[in-house]
Amino acid sequence: MRCTYCRARAGLIRRTCATCARVIEIVDKSAGNVGFQTLVDIFKAEDLSQQQVDRVLDAQVGGGPTIRDRLTSQMTNALMRGLGMPGRQSPEDVRRVRESMNGASGQGTYTPNFHNSQGQEPPTGAH
Ligand SMILES: [Zn+2]
Repeated sequence: MRCTYCRARAGLIRRTCATCARVIEIVDKSAGNVGFQTLVDIFKAEDLSQQQVDRVLDAQVGGGPTIRDRLTSQMTNALMRGLGMPGRQSPEDVRRVRESMNGASGQGTYTPNFHNSQGQEPPTGAH
């Protein structure tokens, strides 16, 4: 089996390699509780590079929202609730916004993104 996220060898039954599994575990544990910057710090402390994290967060698995979409929606909702608003943005909403911003116009194309601009903040949740 090859890793769903980075295509490295994952093992006989595993669909996720150890590195990507760690990224997902951290996201699952932290999402909704910490901001994106804190999450980035945790990844750094775990010795995960930005590339290793990005390829998991931005992996398009089965055409659904990416983990980054999920994170963005959770953080946006947390932020809105903090301001006394309902905060009901779903990962699908985030994906739609992202795709319309990228000009993909819903054709399901893999859009080029900000991977090659190292050190620059991704345009997510920056309000
Ligand atoms: Zn992997």
